[in-house]
Amino acid sequence: MPEKYDDSKFYQFHEKDLPDRCFLCSRDAGTLLIFRQIATMLLVHLCRDCIYENIADYLLDNTRPWLTGREGI
Ligand SMILES: [Zn+2]
Repeated sequence: MPEKYDDSKFYQFHEKDLPDRCFLCSRDAGTLLIFRQIATMLLVHLCRDCIYENIADYLLDNTRPWLTGREGI
């Protein structure tokens, strides 16, 4: 997939992360949230239970600008 952002290198997912599984418990937990693992600074998907138990090891990362739907703002 071609890179869409100049800053793509800052938004790499962990090599063991899967988009439909929690990174920690491997459950398909429905709603998964993206966090940055502090140890590696890579992005991972986490379920609500795991982020609640491990919030000290992860950062919420919602800093990326949206690509679509924001033109003209
Ligand atoms: Zn989990």
